[in-house]
Amino acid sequence: MPELLDVSGKCHCGRTSLNGLAQPDMIIACHCTDCQTFSGAPFRAVVIVKPENIVIKGDVSQYTKVADSGTERVQGFCGKCGTQIYAAATDKSVYNVRTGFLDQHNTLIPKKHIFGKSAAPWLSSISETTWMKEGPNSEEMSPFDDNMRELVMRL
Ligand SMILES: [Zn+2]
Ligand SMILES: [Zn+2]
Repeated sequence: MPELLDVSGKCHCGRTSLNGLAQPDMIIACHCTDCQTFSGAPFRAVVIVKPENIVIKGDVSQYTKVADSGTERVQGFCGKCGTQIYAAATDKSVYNVRTGFLDQHNTLIPKKHIFGKSAAPWLSSISETTWMKEGPNSEEMSPFDDNMRELVMRL
């Protein structure tokens, strides 16, 4: 079994924090329409953390979504700023921790993409689009330079 990864993060307002030991082989990006709706973004990524390896502090609000199949999934988010923290089964037997708010998010590279049938069709072309370092009038740059490629190859 691969070594567990230390993960930590805080929501945008700082009221909610999470520390955990994650499964490095279980990093998944989900392109389902629920993930797109909840996040307001093209997809969400999660890393799997067992309940005995997670400490969540602060003000987590929960919303339970019911799938067409009847399966219930608890969506945990900061009750003040709305930062998405996790999804879990109702018995909290495992946590799917959202990678976006974690300090380690740049190195938590998804090993698998699911619900490709609803993925944004333009994702494959993002490296060919114009990228700016910061705001719309800042310096042009490429986030897909050699350093990043090297990092991805190592993982
Ligand atoms: Zn917050
Ligand atoms: Zn999804």
